[in-house]
Amino acid sequence: MKSEPGEIIDMHVHIVGNGSSGSGCWLKLDSWHRPVAGLMLRHVGLPASALRGDLDRLYLARLLELLRGSSIRRAVILAQDAVHDDSGKRCQDPGSFYVPNSYVLQLARQHPEFLPAVSIHPARPDALEELERCIAGGAVMMKCLPNCQNIDCRNPRFTRFWERMAEAGLPLLAHTGGEHTLPVVRPDLADPRILTRPLDCGVTVIAAHCGTRSGLLDRDYFETFVEMTRAYPRLYGDISAFNVPTRGGRIRECLREPLVSRLVHGSDFPVPVYAVGAWLRGLVDWNVYRAGRRNANPIERDYQLKRAMGFPPEVFTRISRLLPAGPRPVSS
Ligand SMILES: [Zn+2]
Repeated sequence: MKSEPGEIIDMHVHIVGNGSSGSGCWLKLDSWHRPVAGLMLRHVGLPASALRGDLDRLYLARLLELLRGSSIRRAVILAQDAVHDDSGKRCQDPGSFYVPNSYVLQLARQHPEFLPAVSIHPARPDALEELERCIAGGAVMMKCLPNCQNIDCRNPRFTRFWERMAEAGLPLLAHTGGEHTLPVVRPDLADPRILTRPLDCGVTVIAAHCGTRSGLLDRDYFETFVEMTRAYPRLYGDISAFNVPTRGGRIRECLREPLVSRLVHGSDFPVPVYAVGAWLRGLVDWNVYRAGRRNANPIERDYQLKRAMGFPPEVFTRISRLLPAGPRPVSS
């Protein structure tokens, strides 16, 4: 365990694909989400036409290239389970994406830069079997988006699932706060309070985005999240997508102790990284803003901006202490 605790890790990186390589990934984009997806691809240096081409390989190659050209040593790559109803039946996704667990586990075996985070809807009839399979396959985290995937973590039927995660030392990364890049099916499940159940079962939980709002009109759950960190020593927050201007409104509070000691770094790649929000808020000076704008690598730009804002080095390495097994060495 904890073989290389000083490594800089981005613990929130999405894998996206259209199944072109046989990955099993799919994308279903409605007329509102298609331009958003195109914008995100262009932002990371891929043509929007990749959506209809060999997206699997293009996306993977670009991600590896950006990662290797950055200060980040490893990335936790995220699978994405489908939406299921409360009885565990898979829903017809209205406009969403899917990334199978087997694909992220395979990518992590092929590329030592990657650490695999699987995604399992706990209402699935095979949820516990799939969890065992993923633990055996080397999963380091479980990712879910309760408000988009319809996962009410308080459901007592999920208790055994959380207990098994706790036993295996598998942390839960759960989306908190609003969401605008994916369709939301249960807005009320953006509330971090639904995470008390896995926490009570002994799971280490990371609240993605610390409950902050995604759009200007969203409800902000940041205060709720902060209050919960006082009651739950196993609760952490990630600072992913904080360089999307609407998400960055709580950065100043996040820089203060004791909260900053409960934060971990993630980019939310391929979500765009803008330097302008940090500059307008007075978190970075003009030179940092200009350097950020010139930096063509969004993974590095996100890292440099957050360092310049004052996030201490531990925020970028802390996640290795929370993962079940020490990362393997990167041979580069
Ligand atoms: Zn994300």
